[in-house]
Amino acid sequence: MENMIKQEICEKKGGNVMGKRYEKTGIDTIADLYGENVFSLKTMRNYLSETAYKSLLTTIKEGTTIDASIADEVADAMKTWAVSKGATHFTHWFQPLTGSTAEKHDSFIVPDNEGGVVLKFSGKELIQGEPDASSFPSGGLRATFEARGYTAWDPTSPAFIKEGELGATLCIPTAFYSYHGEALDKKTPLLRSTAALSKHVSRLAKLFGIEQTSRPYATLGAEQEYFLIDMNFYEGRLDLIQTGRTLFGQPPAKHQQMDDHYFGAIKTRIMSFMDDLDRELWKLGIPSKTRHNEVCPAQFEIAPVFEEQNLASDHNMLTMDILERVAEKHGLACLMHEKPFAGVNGSGKHNNWSLCGPDGKNWLSPGDNPHENAKFLTVICALMKAIDTYAGLLRASVASAGNDHRLGANEAPPAILSIFLGEQLYDIIEQIESGGAKSSKDGGTIEIGVTSLPKFPRDVTDRNRTSPFAFTGNKFEFRAVGSNQSCAGSNIILNTIVADALSDICDQLEADVASGKVFNEVLQDVLQGIVKKHKRILFNGDNYTEDWHVEAEKRGLPNLKDTPAALKAVQDEKVVKLFEKHKVLSKQELKSRHDIYEEQYEMIISIEAGVAAKMARTMIIPAALEYQSSLAGTIEDVSSCGCKSVETKELLETVSGLTETALSSIKKLEGNIAKEATADMLSSMNELRESVDALEGVIPDEIWPLPSYAEMLFMS
Ligand code: ADP
Ligand code: MG
Repeated sequence: MENMIKQEICEKKGGNVMGKRYEKTGIDTIADLYGENVFSLKTMRNYLSETAYKSLLTTIKEGTTIDASIADEVADAMKTWAVSKGATHFTHWFQPLTGSTAEKHDSFIVPDNEGGVVLKFSGKELIQGEPDASSFPSGGLRATFEARGYTAWDPTSPAFIKEGELGATLCIPTAFYSYHGEALDKKTPLLRSTAALSKHVSRLAKLFGIEQTSRPYATLGAEQEYFLIDMNFYEGRLDLIQTGRTLFGQPPAKHQQMDDHYFGAIKTRIMSFMDDLDRELWKLGIPSKTRHNEVCPAQFEIAPVFEEQNLASDHNMLTMDILERVAEKHGLACLMHEKPFAGVNGSGKHNNWSLCGPDGKNWLSPGDNPHENAKFLTVICALMKAIDTYAGLLRASVASAGNDHRLGANEAPPAILSIFLGEQLYDIIEQIESGGAKSSKDGGTIEIGVTSLPKFPRDVTDRNRTSPFAFTGNKFEFRAVGSNQSCAGSNIILNTIVADALSDICDQLEADVASGKVFNEVLQDVLQGIVKKHKRILFNGDNYTEDWHVEAEKRGLPNLKDTPAALKAVQDEKVVKLFEKHKVLSKQELKSRHDIYEEQYEMIISIEAGVAAKMARTMIIPAALEYQSSLAGTIEDVSSCGCKSVETKELLETVSGLTETALSSIKKLEGNIAKEATADMLSSMNELRESVDALEGVIPDEIWPLPSYAEMLFMS
């Protein structure tokens, strides 16, 4: 079987896709292609009356409530446009707490009572939907007798068309909530957290006397890592199919040590995939920008141009979907698990976060004058305060069974949160701390609102790759997010904790200014206070070292090593209050999320345990026994001929020893599965893996029942 797979793969190399030559799309320019499947502002203008267009535009730009009287017109325009693109159905597209996206399609047809149909799509259908919600996780928020769940149109993320082989579907981004209005998805709290952030950024802008021309918002650029392996190998591995990661497998002699894959020339077949991928993304108005080989063979990265956060978050969910679909078309499987292969790099998502102020400027960009710099330093200090106060919560936002294998595994940041500012900015922060006194390196002092800051060169600040939260010149890069996770999770937390820090800062500044104090002076005091209290969160060194773990403990920074430990942080009284204060999540909503994530974690481990036991019993052990019996036969034959078989006997002993160990580990694992003991399942899975991987090292390739790491990582 193996050989047939290899031959098939060889045939596919050079751009053959599923036996068919990959064809160029024939589109003339990217500009024509870009956004062709999006009901964008430009498209809307062509399909809507002036009044409806203007009203919708206000809703989109200012976040105001949609005017119900234009809903019918908008819906009809959307339908007309979608049908012209070949759409037959529409769906409310949403993001339940399963972590993926969901859709339920309805066709546009309405019987005309004359044996035919007309195509209709009403404003009511656009604005609200009621999918059967009973099977989505609600964490106890929805008793079954009122299992209703509703989807509500999010006009700030444009409708788009998803193309199928034969037809197309109009997808409408929506929020998903219960009968009583509780959030059942990731989008609702993201939008609420944006509102909170926006509110306090506006307060700060007012204090700085900044003219407010638009609503402030967070920006997001999500760099996405993924693996591609040949579909035939994928289909030969029950563990990949059912759990997304390999539960067994020996890392090959050569993997990523030579660093020859990172930024290396991209193979022909992969290039075809990437070309196809970019076209599909561009059609959906997703600004895919960068593509390259990652550190591990078969690992790649894609990064878009940053956008408004809610849109970028939707776009990342769509990107993951398109990655899988385009890969399949090319006979490849796209793996977005955080650690599909042990012993080599896992995959993450770098969540680039920044703030666009009401002046339309990036507030994490040091400015050209002292006034702008004061604003920049205030935001930096707000981030220090936010991350230090809620480190555990931010850590919890990236907790998952998959990410547990990656965080702290020598390739990704550890579970300890700290901020990297780079030397120059760190120096400035220290000067703020010593407040006016002659201090630090060049003996300079910073006077907030008076002193100009140097420009921080981006290539200098970006060198520290080991930090979980790094300042990279004009944005922060949160690197602990898992490749498979929705960006919404960590951004809900980031927005909320920064909103909270800004709210405290504004409270103090507003009070002081009202009492007649000088703004620059009180600001200096406030920032100095923050730096003094929260400086421990700053760390410029190597986050991968043991020394840092010791140092972090001394500083009292939390090190929540796995998901169960991290999830406890979600239930902190302090956290409950935070979310209630900023109206992002109620106590019940927060509790439900905690319970869902805990349950998901346990479910994933128990599925993995079940798959591991099954594969070991029904695939690995039979191969090991087969080899043993062939060895035993050989030894008998050889001795009956009067020849020596000392080494062969030793080999047999090794194989039989490992087989026995594996069998007893399976028994233990099965026992832990029966007891539903999550932590024990994890440890006995690891124990079983040891003997199984050792068996892989001695059993003939021909009878080993699984595609090997070398094959999966190098043959595509
Ligand atoms: P780096 O080399 O630091 O990774 P890039 O310029 O390649 O920097 O950017 C990485 C990601 O960060 C891209 O997706 C980019 O669009 C995004 N990014 C750049 N500026 C911002 C910003 N102001 N807000 C959010 N994301 C940003
Ligand atoms: Mg980056």
